[in-house]
Amino acid sequence: MRHLLGIEGLNPVAVTAMLDLAENYVLLNRSGKTQRDLLRGRTLINLFFEDSTRTRTSFELAGKRLGADVINMSVSTSSVSKGETLLDTAATLNAMNCDLLVVRHNQSGAPALLAQKVEAAVINAGDGMHEHPTQALLDALTIRRRKGRIDGLTIAICGDIAHSRVARSNLLLLSMLGNQVRVVGPPTLIPAEIASLGVQVYHDMEAGLAGADIVMALRLQKERMNKGLVPSAREFFAFYGVSAEKLAFAKPDALVMHPGPMNRGVEIDSAVADDSVRSVIKEQVEMGVAVRMAVLDTLARGPIWNG
Ligand code: ASP
Repeated sequence: MRHLLGIEGLNPVAVTAMLDLAENYVLLNRSGKTQRDLLRGRTLINLFFEDSTRTRTSFELAGKRLGADVINMSVSTSSVSKGETLLDTAATLNAMNCDLLVVRHNQSGAPALLAQKVEAAVINAGDGMHEHPTQALLDALTIRRRKGRIDGLTIAICGDIAHSRVARSNLLLLSMLGNQVRVVGPPTLIPAEIASLGVQVYHDMEAGLAGADIVMALRLQKERMNKGLVPSAREFFAFYGVSAEKLAFAKPDALVMHPGPMNRGVEIDSAVADDSVRSVIKEQVEMGVAVRMAVLDTLARGPIWNG
């Protein structure tokens, strides 16, 4: 596979190799060193049609630490805002001979379409409600480092499952690696067909969190909802917000995760988010840089070896 468009299509061997490589980059980053010869002379374009803080900056850092020339393009400052089509943008970027194209788009499938039109290796940095593969890889790395393994765990993904590309990539990846994945949320925010992916569905936090090793909170993706699917943020917090009381249903050493951006007091309580023992939210951000370095490194060397 020349691109990273989703978790779908990867296998455990390829994923484990990527996580092992990312471990090396965690050490490198902590040592304060860089490896600028690896991508020297290569060009990475960050093409973001949707807002981003962590993903864009971590791809930028990852590219720079490996020596690539990094260019950030956002819609508001590009010709896209003048009505240029995605395919015309692709043709323009292609003519610039870019090597690595990191794309975020509000339409599911946009990175896959671009991948057919450009020479560069395309990395999906989040497409609509479809996938966000590097988020799932960084979550897996965070869990593996903290729990010492990434199989046989019970992982509860809570909140807006229906509109979340993070949920989708995570449930594909974590199930593939041999974990029990649960989704917990109101019926309006859990697609009916999700059980066919092998996940367990809960509408009640007490049952959904019982015995969980990992509790992952997700933001309400209001920008992707076309009608009010939750009565109010306050009510959502009361039923589904990850608070100390609800966390007590999980295992005593359960970890709390969130991909960011967080809405405190909606899907997660501030005290839980900032709990230095249970919350690994900051560590997820650190792992994000290492995982993205591993992805860039792997794709720059050639196709992802898929066993
Ligand atoms: N940052 C994640 C994403 O881009 C999660 C979120 O926005 O809630 O999907």
